[in-house]
Amino acid sequence: MFLKFPKEKENPIFFFIIINLGLVILYILGINASHQFSTLHSEVASVWFPSAITLPMVFKYGIQVFPGIIIASIIGLTPSLERISPDLSFIGFAFIQIACALANCFQPIVALYLVRTFAPSKDIFINIKSVCIFIGAVIFSPIISALMGITGLLIINVITIAEYPTSFLTWWLGSALAHVIFSPTIMQWNKKDFIPQSASIWEIIFMGLIILFACLLAFIFAYPIEYLLVPPLIWAVFRLKRFQASLLVSIIALVAIIATSKGYGVFVKESTNLSLILLQSFTAVISIFTLILSAALTEKTIAQNQLNQTLENLEATVLRRTNELEKTQINLRHANKTLAKMAYIDSLTQVANRAYFDKIIQREWEQLIVEKECISLLLIDVDYFKNYNDFYGHPEGDICLKKIAQCFKSVVRYSSDVVARYGGEEFAIILPYANCDQAMLVAGKIQNAIASCAINHETSEVSENITVSIGITTMKPSYDSSPDDLIKRADEALYLAKQEGRNRFKVNGIE
Ligand code: GH3
Ligand code: MG
Ligand code: MG
Repeated sequence: MFLKFPKEKENPIFFFIIINLGLVILYILGINASHQFSTLHSEVASVWFPSAITLPMVFKYGIQVFPGIIIASIIGLTPSLERISPDLSFIGFAFIQIACALANCFQPIVALYLVRTFAPSKDIFINIKSVCIFIGAVIFSPIISALMGITGLLIINVITIAEYPTSFLTWWLGSALAHVIFSPTIMQWNKKDFIPQSASIWEIIFMGLIILFACLLAFIFAYPIEYLLVPPLIWAVFRLKRFQASLLVSIIALVAIIATSKGYGVFVKESTNLSLILLQSFTAVISIFTLILSAALTEKTIAQNQLNQTLENLEATVLRRTNELEKTQINLRHANKTLAKMAYIDSLTQVANRAYFDKIIQREWEQLIVEKECISLLLIDVDYFKNYNDFYGHPEGDICLKKIAQCFKSVVRYSSDVVARYGGEEFAIILPYANCDQAMLVAGKIQNAIASCAINHETSEVSENITVSIGITTMKPSYDSSPDDLIKRADEALYLAKQEGRNRFKVNGIE
């Protein structure tokens, strides 16, 4: 579209020309408005509108709007300088033009520098400290420009030393006020912000009517009730968007300025100076007050939102951590169980190890003393296993031991029965509550199971397959004897089985 505002990145030169041209036009319009609305019939302008424009432009576009400021300053000042009699020399004319142009450039850039240096928040109007620094900076910066401009005028004798303080004050306060009242509204200008936030249309109309009524009374009918505008302004700050509240203040201030300049309202006094002071102080107070209150409210809302967000995050984190912890605990329990198992399991044959055998036989012994029940023990030794190793090799020997162990496990059914590797190629089976007959039955089953495994053993002297010899003993545990006796007796029986030719079981001392 032809009327579309150019984008800086797409066409920087066109953009540069447009913003500077726009600034020149607005600046000249601002000068005219300032003269039109100068307080009462004097020439003194209460608010210097061009300053309200240069500040936001420099804040937004930086020094690239300086050409516009310089051109506008020269165009704006020329008619006033031409009216001076006697005529200024060319040097005098050039000097004061340069001084004022520089002053007009300095003014916003000093404010920008101060705000950038000291304001903690990039978005000035959402933070109380930043707003206060902004207000301080925009009130201070016209002091520098006034010093440059008015001193320039003094040097070329446009003003006398006696006029110096008044001229200085007029420049300073006019610009400072423009900065405070109108610049924030321009700086917060956002199309979206014209739509109200929480207030309904009726609320806005009601608010507007009250403000209009108060304005009429104060600025037209001159009732000294201008501070009655404060409560509706507070209402506006709470219920409208920041920009809208700022716009409202600008409008009220504008109404006050125009009315006063036309000779209406509460600020019209006999003395021009008094009028000026009253008007400027009122507009300054409502503007600063609204800016700070808006910032405080925004800061509070942001803090509240951040707090809510933090709380949500915290809850989520706690939940996640709790879940993680639970998982870790479950894993830990599993790991502990595995570890406990591993401590009692023989890594090669996956049956109980010697440590477990020692522990269980002691425990069962004590338990069965109390229960007055008997216990049987089978000590099993693989026949001619050395030969097996020598013939088939050690790794094959390992595989054979694993098979034998699994064979034993398949025979033992009761949960209290324990198959353990006693050492080397010797195994033990603890059979609590089993009497001798039952133990012999288990021994028979073991021999059958081993036979049906049919593990070839070429170098065995009793069979072509793997065989085992078993020593059985059964005892009734008592405090007079110990598990060692049980083991010793089973070992004796095993010895006997070996002696008698292997591949058999022998029983020692049935009780
Ligand atoms: P006997 O019939 O008299 O019991 O003779 P044997 O050869 O079985 O007995 P001996 O005590 O002479 O030999 C036991 C062999 O068992 C010796 C050893 O190499 C073997 N052995 C012990 N532990 C392991 C093991 O973990 N793996 C393997 N492959 N062999 C083992
Ligand atoms: Mg042995
Ligand atoms: Mg052996």
